[in-house]
Amino acid sequence: MSKPKVAFFDFTSCEGCQLTVVDSLQTHVDLLDAVEIVQFREAMTERGEDYVIAFIEGSCVRKSDEDRLKKIREQAVFVVALGACAHLGGVNAIRNRQTVDTVTEYVYGDSPAVRDDLLRVTPLARPIEAVIPVDVVLPGCPIEREEFVRVTKQLLQGRIPKLPDYPMCVECKLNENVCLYHRGQVCLGAITRAGCGAICPTYGDPCEGCRGLISNPNLDAMQSVLVENNLTADDIMARFTMFGTYQLMQREAQAEKA
Ligand code: SF4
Ligand code: SF4
Ligand code: SF4
Repeated sequence: MSKPKVAFFDFTSCEGCQLTVVDSLQTHVDLLDAVEIVQFREAMTERGEDYVIAFIEGSCVRKSDEDRLKKIREQAVFVVALGACAHLGGVNAIRNRQTVDTVTEYVYGDSPAVRDDLLRVTPLARPIEAVIPVDVVLPGCPIEREEFVRVTKQLLQGRIPKLPDYPMCVECKLNENVCLYHRGQVCLGAITRAGCGAICPTYGDPCEGCRGLISNPNLDAMQSVLVENNLTADDIMARFTMFGTYQLMQREAQAEKA
C-alpha cells in the first residue's frame, strides 16, 4: 500500500523549524515510516511534486512567493503553516514599518546586486495565510517537536488538529514559576497561546508571544496587570512587536478605516 506523501517547503525563514522537524523525526521513526517525504530541501535532494500534506515554513516576502504558494495550495489537501514566520509573519515583519529601500540599505549598503534584488521584494513581509488558505498552524519560534508529531499523526488520520486555546500563564503556574511581573519584567503569557510548556518564563525570560494570541485574550485582565505594575499598554506593545508586527499593523489599518 502506498504511503501518504508529504512535502516541506521553505520561504523566508531561518530554517529552524525545519531543523526541529528533522530532529523530531530522528526519535519518531514510526512517523517517518508512515509517510513518504517527496520534497524537503533541508534534508534531501529529490523534488517530487505529488503530495497531500504541505508543510510551509517562512514568510511571503517576494513577489514570486505568491505564485509558488498558490501552486502548493492547488496540489495539497492540507496546508500546514510551520512556525511563527509562516503563521504570523513573525520576525520578518519587523521591517514592515520601514521601506524596503531603507532596511536594505541599512543591512547591505548600496551594492548594485542587492539593489536589483529589491525589485523582487514586496513592501510587507506576510504570513502565508495572507496569500492562501491554511488548514492547520504549528505555532512557535521554533515549533514544538512533540506538537509537530501529534499534529502530523492527526492529519494522517484525516483529522484537523486543535491547538491549546488557553493562555501561557496556565502552564507557567503548573510549573510553579514565580510570575515575572513580580520581578519587574513584562511578559505576554496572559494573552499568548499555551503549548510550549511556558519554556521562556520557566528559564527566567518573559514570553514574547511567538505562538500568537489565544482566540479570546482577556484584555481587561491584561490591563489590570499592567496597572498593578505601573506599566502601560505601550510597554506590552513594545514586546509584542517581536512576533506580532504584522497583526498590529493590520489592526491599525482597520482602525484607521473605521
Ligand atoms: S519561526 Fe523562528 S525558528 Fe521557525 S523559521 Fe521562523 S525564525 Fe526560524
Ligand atoms: S511569568 Fe508570564 S506566563 Fe508566567 S504567570 Fe507571569 S505573566 Fe503568566
Ligand atoms: S514562552 Fe512565549 S515566547 Fe517563549 S516559546 Fe512559549 S510562546 Fe514562545
